[in-house]
Amino acid sequence: MRIDAAKCVGCGQCHQFCTMGAIYFTRSDKGSKVHCFVDEDECVDCGICFRSQVCPTDSLYQINHDWPRSIRGTFSNPLSEHKETRVPGRGTEEMKTNDITNRYKRGYAGMAAEMGRPGTGARLRDAEKVFKSLAKLGVEFEPNNPLTGLLANKQTGEMNPEVVNEKVLSAIIEMVFPLELVIPVLDVMEQVAEEIDTVFSIDLVARVDEDLAVPTAKVMEKHEKWFSLNGKTNLGLGHLRVKGAGLS
Ligand code: SF4
Ligand code: SF4
Repeated sequence: MRIDAAKCVGCGQCHQFCTMGAIYFTRSDKGSKVHCFVDEDECVDCGICFRSQVCPTDSLYQINHDWPRSIRGTFSNPLSEHKETRVPGRGTEEMKTNDITNRYKRGYAGMAAEMGRPGTGARLRDAEKVFKSLAKLGVEFEPNNPLTGLLANKQTGEMNPEVVNEKVLSAIIEMVFPLELVIPVLDVMEQVAEEIDTVFSIDLVARVDEDLAVPTAKVMEKHEKWFSLNGKTNLGLGHLRVKGAGLS
């Protein structure tokens, strides 16, 4: 996003809409006129300031960026669509619809690590640190996730070096692993949290047992880990399939 300094009157209306705090006030060279500018390294191209239509002088304008800068908009602007996955925004189709019917086999857990929020964003070099730490455990990264598509090596978790300095509003790492890895994965996430400059939240999901027990909850309880069974997650609303008296 950019601001046309010649048209901007420095009213500050756009400032309050910026998700990254990337809009600043400055004075023109001649000293008196105050106008705003966008710190383009911090801007994630979410387009919210522009779409809010608050600018009285139409000074905000969007740029069609080339690769790799273009990925900021594809991850951060919900009106953008990833060319590879045809899914707008951050995650897979299941992330959007919450419908994960038949996605998870018994004995496995799925996890989504949602990195970055409005106000902080996430540099992809931090996503790479998480990818690398998890790759050592042998988790399987979701192939249809747009962030997975930026990996140069799915075995090591290295990302395409062209993208690691890019910043996005938020991005989701999605993966699957055997239930035995739930605690090792959570331990790794706790460790890597100390090494990154952003926040993340974790959604953990598993197919319910035939007695409707939640396998991941059992693991968490056994290891005395805090969790919220009914917390807001972007995963988890599969349909129950009834076969006779049991569930499939
Ligand atoms: S596009 Fe988003 S991050 Fe960039 S200046 Fe506008 S609101 Fe801020
Ligand atoms: S709303 Fe428009 S005129 Fe006001 S500070 Fe922002 S860019 Fe400048």
